[in-house]
Amino acid sequence: MELWFTEKHTEHVKLSIQVDEQLYSSQSEFQRIDIFSSKEFGKFLTLDGYMMLTEKDEFIYHEMIVHVPMAVHPCVKKALVIGGGDGGTVRELVRYLEIEHIDVVEIDEEVVEACRRYLPQTACGFADERVHIYYDDGLKFVRKFVEEYDLILVDSTDPFGPGEGLFTKEFYGNCYKALRADGIMVNQHESPFYPNDATAMQRAHKRIVESFPISKVYQAHIPTYPSGHWLFGFASKKYHPLDGQDVARWKARGIKTRYYNEQLHKGAFALPNYVEELLEKVEGA
Ligand code: SAM
Repeated sequence: MELWFTEKHTEHVKLSIQVDEQLYSSQSEFQRIDIFSSKEFGKFLTLDGYMMLTEKDEFIYHEMIVHVPMAVHPCVKKALVIGGGDGGTVRELVRYLEIEHIDVVEIDEEVVEACRRYLPQTACGFADERVHIYYDDGLKFVRKFVEEYDLILVDSTDPFGPGEGLFTKEFYGNCYKALRADGIMVNQHESPFYPNDATAMQRAHKRIVESFPISKVYQAHIPTYPSGHWLFGFASKKYHPLDGQDVARWKARGIKTRYYNEQLHKGAFALPNYVEELLEKVEGA
């Protein structure tokens, strides 16, 4: 008998991955958590039936959410990760020795516990002594801070369910307030391809543009996300993501990556015309 995980990407499109075994399944206070093993993608985590990460392609998402801003900001000392309960974003952040303190605010402790047990490849970052985990709603948590962080990474689920508040104008305004005078925020910005995802992406973009003086979008190819074409938002108080990229400083750290490199950093901000048009439509609106 064959066992398949299927995620509906639109009313008429589904992605299916053959499953070897269901390793974990639980209904937490916030969402349904499942972890499967598979031949093609290794172990993978889904929340409420939506793909969060697979062992095979998570490096793309996690490298791109972390190394792009880290190659721009000259000195991140204190960082905040909002969501990110699988640990992949933190794993990439702890590779930077200059970072002194990393706060993680994750709404669902069960995600962290399940990932610690079944996905050590990503959860290993949590073991670093600079990492402090708070179990709280990111929307509430970030309200408390003024000029506290150099970098905020919004590694959230999609704009419905527990992640909904992390796409609001209030949230982005509070992230702005919580960042120091040269702070950067990067968020997972959804996909431009299917109309429902594109609408969510435009809504988020409009709100970020209204909150930050510099707001650019970059892309990556993530095979297991809807359409495989994914965007990130780079919002900043001071540094431009291309003019501010310091290749020599980044290379001097000797961080080995599988996806990110300094050429790709530049190329990732060169967007297809249809994506530029979607963004422009809401930038002036
Ligand atoms: N890379 C993933 C993606 O885009 O598919 C995101 C992965 S990470 C597992 C997302 C995390 O955000 C989840 O663990 C979820 O519990 C957390 N989350 C959702 N809403 C949240 C909120 N309001 N505050 C803090 N964490 C939240």
